[in-house]
Amino acid sequence: MLIFGLRVCFRTVGHGMFHCQRCGGDRGYRHRVGRRWFHIFYIPVIRLGRTGEHLQCLDCRGRFRTGVLAIPTAAQMEEALPAGTLAAATCMLLAGNPGSRPARRRAVDAIRSAGRPAYDETALDEDLVRSAVSGGDDVAAPLNTLAAQLAVPAREWFLANVVRIGLADGQLSDEQRLAARHVAANLGLTAAHAYGVITRTEEGATAE
Ligand SMILES: [Zn+2]
Repeated sequence: MLIFGLRVCFRTVGHGMFHCQRCGGDRGYRHRVGRRWFHIFYIPVIRLGRTGEHLQCLDCRGRFRTGVLAIPTAAQMEEALPAGTLAAATCMLLAGNPGSRPARRRAVDAIRSAGRPAYDETALDEDLVRSAVSGGDDVAAPLNTLAAQLAVPAREWFLANVVRIGLADGQLSDEQRLAARHVAANLGLTAAHAYGVITRTEEGATAE
């Protein structure tokens, strides 16, 4: 008869949504941490180390390492393009004249086509204020998330669209060019690569 030994007790330390690879979709999970105990007659008496930390899918009960949280959910992927477009567009508008009608129209069009069809100038004003208050710190996170999903040609296309917002009311100012480089860097494009895309887009606008 086993009167003492080791046992593991699990407790839930959090909940959330993740992309379950077994279910193949967004599911709820519970985050569980195990602790080893030395037991006598199955009564835990001495607390030992932590072990077996994992996420458990609430649907299929599959267990996963916490690293799977780095995989974006389908909902996050769907949100990444409008969120990234919004961040980059406000960054570009603030670098120039945020009251410029053609630039604002182009920004609103870009955000609408990125997946927010109801977006309008009132929403843009709110977002411009929010972004101005943050001093541009709100640009990096949405663009980093987006960059993880976009292949290089798509990042170039995205950057060119942002540059066209700045070009809507004339040539780029130095600040607008800096804003474009800031967007490019957060998309993971090198400075030389960004320079090429920005210059080509400027030349294209002049040729129109
Ligand atoms: Zn599952």
